[in-house]
Amino acid sequence: MILKFQTTFLALLVGTLLGGSVSAATVQNYWEQEEKPVAMPVSVSTDTLPDIGITAGSTLSIGQEIQMGNFYVRQMRAATPLIDDPLLVGYINQLGEKLVSHAYSVKTPFHFYLVNNNELNAFAFFGGNVVIHSGIFRYSDNEDQLASVMAHEISHVTQRHLARAMEDQKNNAPFTWVGALGSIILATASPQAGMAALTTTLAGGQQSMISFTQANEQEADRIGIQVLERAGFDPQSMPDFLQKLADESRGSTAPPEMLLTHPLPDSRLADIRNRAGQMARPQQRPISKDFLLAKVRVMTMYAGNDTEDARALIQQLQVGGSHEKIAAQYGEAILAYQDKQYDKASALLLVLNSQAPDNAWFLDALTDVDIARQQAGQAVARLEKSGAVINNPVLQLNLANACLEAGQYAKAHKILNKYTFTWPDDPNGWSLLEKASAAEGERDQELAARAEGLALKGKLDDAVTLLKQASASGKGSKLDQARYDARIDQLRGLAKIFEIYTKN
Ligand SMILES: [Zn+2]
Repeated sequence: MILKFQTTFLALLVGTLLGGSVSAATVQNYWEQEEKPVAMPVSVSTDTLPDIGITAGSTLSIGQEIQMGNFYVRQMRAATPLIDDPLLVGYINQLGEKLVSHAYSVKTPFHFYLVNNNELNAFAFFGGNVVIHSGIFRYSDNEDQLASVMAHEISHVTQRHLARAMEDQKNNAPFTWVGALGSIILATASPQAGMAALTTTLAGGQQSMISFTQANEQEADRIGIQVLERAGFDPQSMPDFLQKLADESRGSTAPPEMLLTHPLPDSRLADIRNRAGQMARPQQRPISKDFLLAKVRVMTMYAGNDTEDARALIQQLQVGGSHEKIAAQYGEAILAYQDKQYDKASALLLVLNSQAPDNAWFLDALTDVDIARQQAGQAVARLEKSGAVINNPVLQLNLANACLEAGQYAKAHKILNKYTFTWPDDPNGWSLLEKASAAEGERDQELAARAEGLALKGKLDDAVTLLKQASASGKGSKLDQARYDARIDQLRGLAKIFEIYTKN
């Protein structure tokens, strides 16, 4: 199939949206001011951030960045086809954290999201939020290339390109472009509609924005390649990936919107090739098994779901090394499952599972097959037998889901209470908890869980309404009621903080 192609990462658009220009000297300063790493928590629930107050024209603080990120992540959840697949989300976050731990000037926790979109794209926005299109997987030959894209995006964040652009924009009220940023997020869901909105917003000063963009892009490359090297990846993967972009854009016939076709100038490629050439390459090692499994999963289950492409990938993997062969068998099993050939899927997966009993990718797929065959109890037994379930959130979700399907509601409920406490930002936990509560006839808890799912999508008023119903139902204990009331206050506080973004 033809790869629809965008040469420009949206991060770049975020930069261009804000206009202004950054001189080469300023960029050099950012570069020199790169700071030593600071230990950061991996995941922080941002609900409880204090209202730090935002006044037009003032410098954007890190707290404000995080707050804006918190607002936009919720908008993004509501407006874009985010992939909530726990395996894939877990994989890109692990990879991302590995890179972040080797980045300097890390001032916010990082979160990595995957959008189900075959367009080649990735972008970063306020508060350490990095979004990757599933199309990036299709296009990456190995984990190092995927990591190079992520290192580039991480560097947009650590260099605070967005915030600095705002600071440079002294004459503009900082929040008039909130709608424009919103359309960027929309653009990831529906490139056509989103881009039309963006072009309107940008009509006029596009030309002057290009230098700004290129400076930022080059800086993100330069910082990113060092992050890549420090994290033990092959620095050569960055020019390799960029070269693929360049080749592809030359082959493309219909030039998209001007900003999307923003060329990858030869100077950028030459610069990064030169830098990579001066860096030591790591010893050759087998390709990451998790990367291959993730790529196969994306290609078989997401990104347009073209089984022809998936089959071509699987064929190619079948003649590779041992990791490739394992990934090929995993892919065959997923395709068989999708074709409702459950016996075949199960047989393929059981072989893989016997070789790696704690591997979450195989256990997860076996759970799906068992549930489809109405044998959820078997999945529960298998998961409980695996020691990996204790520390693996993906398997905990699997176990909860299998328990629900097997009618073991109380057990599911208990697992999910713990899960949502530990991972309050994962919508999967809340939607399963909602199901478990409903199955047990716990109406108040069902409403409260649904409220959390809505709050994660920024629908705070609706969430408050549901929590009020939960509190008024008289179904819960005194403690439950107090908890609902406290949560209502918290969400109202959050809505108040977010007013500044919704007023425009
Ligand atoms: Zn970029």
